[in-house]
Amino acid sequence: MSEDDRVLRDQIALVTHAAGFAARVHAGQTRKGESGAAYILHLAEVADLLAKALEEPDAELVAAAWLHDAVEKTKITSEEIESVFGPRVASLVAEVSDDKSLPEAERHHMQIEMIGEKSEAARLLRLADKISGLRELAEDPPAGWDMARRRDWLQFATDVVDRCRGLNTALDLLADQAAAAACRSIDELAPPSA
Ligand code: ZN
Repeated sequence: MSEDDRVLRDQIALVTHAAGFAARVHAGQTRKGESGAAYILHLAEVADLLAKALEEPDAELVAAAWLHDAVEKTKITSEEIESVFGPRVASLVAEVSDDKSLPEAERHHMQIEMIGEKSEAARLLRLADKISGLRELAEDPPAGWDMARRRDWLQFATDVVDRCRGLNTALDLLADQAAAAACRSIDELAPPSA
């Protein structure tokens, strides 16, 4: 086997391992949307967006996409991610993990404030995460969210998207399309004006 083939095999194995790991630690979790879709579908969507859009292939970033919510939403620690997937994957996951001890409004504020200081790869990961969230808001919104709550989340997501813009044309375009669809779906909730 050539050295290039060996590297490629290891990269495929890293991403596959991350997908299986994510499926295990997020087992039983569902997305916020009314349909109750499995949480792993969000992780698969974010990994897929990056795998297809990256101009320079980056297996560690795609692996981090599978794992990006593991520290925030499961008992897995950053140290465990590092011991299994290495320091760069762990640091990418850490860069996009919010501080769970803060209330939601404060977490959103911090996400907007801090995103400019993150690595390029972390901003691409965050952008793909928001594309997935905006699509869910348009296509399968949480049952209990009224128009105001949906508008608040759309504003938060577009504030983050705007700070991640300019790194990848394809993802910028998909984010704009997802935000426009989310906006339309909210407008449709408005009672027709007389
Ligand atoms: Zn996410």
